[in-house]
Amino acid sequence: MKTVLITGSTSGIGLGIATEFAKTKQYHIVFNGLETNGLEIATQIGKQYGVEVMFSNANMLKPEELRKMVDEAVVKFGKIDVLINNAGIQHVSPIEDFPDEKWNAIIGINLTSAFYLTKAVWKGMKERKFGRVINIASAHGLVASEFKSAYIASKHGIVGFTKTIALEGAPFGITANAICPGYVKTPLVEKQIADQAKAHQMSEADVVSKVMLYKQAVKEFVSVEELGQLAVFLASDVAKTLTGTALPVDGGWNAQ
Ligand code: NAD
Repeated sequence: MKTVLITGSTSGIGLGIATEFAKTKQYHIVFNGLETNGLEIATQIGKQYGVEVMFSNANMLKPEELRKMVDEAVVKFGKIDVLINNAGIQHVSPIEDFPDEKWNAIIGINLTSAFYLTKAVWKGMKERKFGRVINIASAHGLVASEFKSAYIASKHGIVGFTKTIALEGAPFGITANAICPGYVKTPLVEKQIADQAKAHQMSEADVVSKVMLYKQAVKEFVSVEELGQLAVFLASDVAKTLTGTALPVDGGWNAQ
């Protein structure tokens, strides 16, 4: 059995990815997130698919909690083979009103936590000559939209970080890739629909059709299953040379 640690996996995309890993029955799963019912969510998935799970509410803004989560996972499951840096937040605001503390939180949660966690799992992956780091970036890791300065800086940052660790990991059987989703209907996006409506001064229905899906050629939200199955493939033994990439799963947004 391998072990996968997925941050922010008690909601949205992370939960979808965890579910796809559980379906393979080839992984112990370390769940993480701030949802107060995180333990129940993890336990339920474990029971449903017959896999062993662990839950940690480590806060992405607290490096000592991140290191403790990795240590506890190694004690419980022996090793971490796959790290998925997925936890993330968003804030939508014109630059002149963008709160300083939101900037710092977004960079801390969306980018810096991936640095701390990668560092914490790296030695073990190097020793075992196998590792997979998968970073959930965004279509906004490749292109920008207005009113999302911190988010887009964090997502472009994580794409650069991914490329660097892909190079450093290559001699040791460690791959690193970023997945760049278009819009996925999760709690993060539900909140953004309301925020964007305010920023653009339009109705929520117009935000979905004129702002969000407007940029995608495929006029559908991306599903968590599609992202989860891609992550399972990237984590597999066969995906050895697929490294250093930023893979858009964005309905053709980045083709334009
Ligand atoms: P979500 O709000 O449903 O889930 C986010 C998860 O991160 C939750 O489990 C939450 O508890 C956790 N989290 C937030 N702050 C944390 C902290 N300080 N410490 C620990 N955990 C924390 O959001 P989602 O849409 O599933 O987003 C997941 C990732 O996918 C994010 O990195 C996001 O930027 C990215 N993404 C989302 C979309 C989209 O359309 N939803 C598109 C592209 C990329």
